[in-house]
Amino acid sequence: MPLQTVTPIRRLPPATASRIAAGEVIERPLSALKEALENALDAEAGNVEVRIERSLDHAFQVADDGIGIAVDQLELALERHATSKIAALEDLDRLTSLGFRGEALPSIAAVSRLKLVSRPRDAEHAAMVRCEGGAVVERAAAARAPGTTVEVADLFFNTPARRKFLHSPAGELRAALRMLEAYALAWPEVGFRMIVDGRERFACSRAVSGDAREAEVRRARAAALWGARHAEQLLEARGGGDPAGAGGIVVEALLGLPEHARSTREGQVFLVNRRWIQSPLLGAALRQAYGNLLPAGRFPSATVWLTVPPARLDVNVHPTKREVRFADENGLFALVAATCALPLARLQPPFTVVRGGASGAREEAPYAPPAEPRWAERVRERPGQTSLGFELPPPSAPAAGPQPAAESAAEAELWQLHRTYILAPVRGGLVIFDQHAAHERILFEEAMTRLHGEPGSSQQLMFPALADLTRDQFELLLELGPSLKQLGWDLRPLGPPTVMIQGVPGGLRVERPAVLLQDLIDGVSEPAGAPDPASRGARTPLRGVAWSGAHPDLAEQLARSWACHAAIKAGDALSPAEMRALVDRLFATSRPHGDPHGRATFVRLELDELHRRFGRS
Ligand code: ADP
Ligand code: MG
Repeated sequence: MPLQTVTPIRRLPPATASRIAAGEVIERPLSALKEALENALDAEAGNVEVRIERSLDHAFQVADDGIGIAVDQLELALERHATSKIAALEDLDRLTSLGFRGEALPSIAAVSRLKLVSRPRDAEHAAMVRCEGGAVVERAAAARAPGTTVEVADLFFNTPARRKFLHSPAGELRAALRMLEAYALAWPEVGFRMIVDGRERFACSRAVSGDAREAEVRRARAAALWGARHAEQLLEARGGGDPAGAGGIVVEALLGLPEHARSTREGQVFLVNRRWIQSPLLGAALRQAYGNLLPAGRFPSATVWLTVPPARLDVNVHPTKREVRFADENGLFALVAATCALPLARLQPPFTVVRGGASGAREEAPYAPPAEPRWAERVRERPGQTSLGFELPPPSAPAAGPQPAAESAAEAELWQLHRTYILAPVRGGLVIFDQHAAHERILFEEAMTRLHGEPGSSQQLMFPALADLTRDQFELLLELGPSLKQLGWDLRPLGPPTVMIQGVPGGLRVERPAVLLQDLIDGVSEPAGAPDPASRGARTPLRGVAWSGAHPDLAEQLARSWACHAAIKAGDALSPAEMRALVDRLFATSRPHGDPHGRATFVRLELDELHRRFGRS
């Protein structure tokens, strides 16, 4: 390798430096929208309207009816570290606004074409300033009702490297809906509206300030977002406020029932002093509160409002302000867990819930009649012979004994071990199947066939089930509509956020169609690398890249999610007929050796190996 010349250290030109800083504050299109939204809320807006053209990075605007910016200060607002919110760092101890760094507008301006139009409440006229890549290119008088509009177009147009790493526009749009929902929950006295390509996608009007209890106002907002039926079922929690305990923090929450739990954390909203944050700490406290109401891998849906004395909170720890630091984390954890556990206590069952409802043997086989039971032959195949994509270790067989003759599964006895594995004796050894992985492989191939060809059959539900989706789930559902139909779902969207399930894919026993539908949708939107919720430990992550890659293969991601969530689980009891059908159908697939994540569906134990270990050889 040729010796490389050492690059000398140099100061970056100011224009470059400001872009790098922008990369931190404005890490994705959503951050730009978040900052503009927070500015509107800081400006005491009564109504905030978000308009998006095509996608967030193409163009969006946020308009408010807040206090506005004085004409002679408009350009100052676009300067770095220019803020009206604090005068000194100590002011952070009394902070009541969302912004404080004076960095958002300049950071957005540096990487976009930005237009700021504003009129203070007591001014006659509005003024406008336009920037490109951070440089002011136009100033003019303008017409506008009191308030401020910020327009952001062509985000990251001058930072092509960053553009390459953007999330998919559809995923970013759903994230925007989720964010709007969070701020709507934090600011019930503010009306919010979001319009995408001229179509209203989100709206909730401002709560009329009356003498309604704060908790009632919050529940009303939850009803506006998720439907009255869902909001009614939410459990209310309130605790803290004691200056001696946990530093005077007040905790209020609306908690979803265990059946509202999801396979991702997307149903959780944490609001601290009306700021939308991420917090593993609060997530863990919430999980603790639910105790064994939820099996592993399920995350409660809940909104938690925290009121924390500003001096006990550090909001200046993260460039996007999405994370905060609490003065007494242990105290806070205990307070949140205890507060939320209280209303949940009456739901606690006297037994431990097992995922998948292992309620005993099923009397009826959910599978097709067994095909010709010649699978035992294929156990010996090296994966390469049947599989195109998987590189699994060959079935453990260091001592290659004689090839076993075909063995009839009809003769073979099958046993279920710990309701997780199926044991099958074969000539020369024993094959152990992972029942979930095997079923996943079967369902995945079946789904791919249905999605690319003949639609699957649908079994109609005697009593249609209602699923209360979240807004982002509902959006995705609409997008997935035709594919879901191909799979065999018969769905009727009743308008956000409710959908009526009239039929489910045939050939399976679906006990809780609404839960399955939600898990299925969440599985599609899960970012790459999210763990397979059905796996019993940390194992190979879902390989789905539908929303983060450049070539989203939605169908495959849907098939994966379907396979993962509809498959029988560890803990499900199986009858001998079901076990036989499972094994037969597994070996009727193209790649019986691995599930869609590339995990083994079975392992083989050689008799020789057993003999050796028992000292027989
Ligand atoms: P910060 O919010 O941290 O102060 P920003 O860069 O987001 O910094 O905004 C700079 C300043 O511009 C704010 O302090 C505020 O005075 C003014 N400003 C920004 N957006 C608005 C708005 N929508 N309404 C009124 N003033 C605004
Ligand atoms: Mg700001």
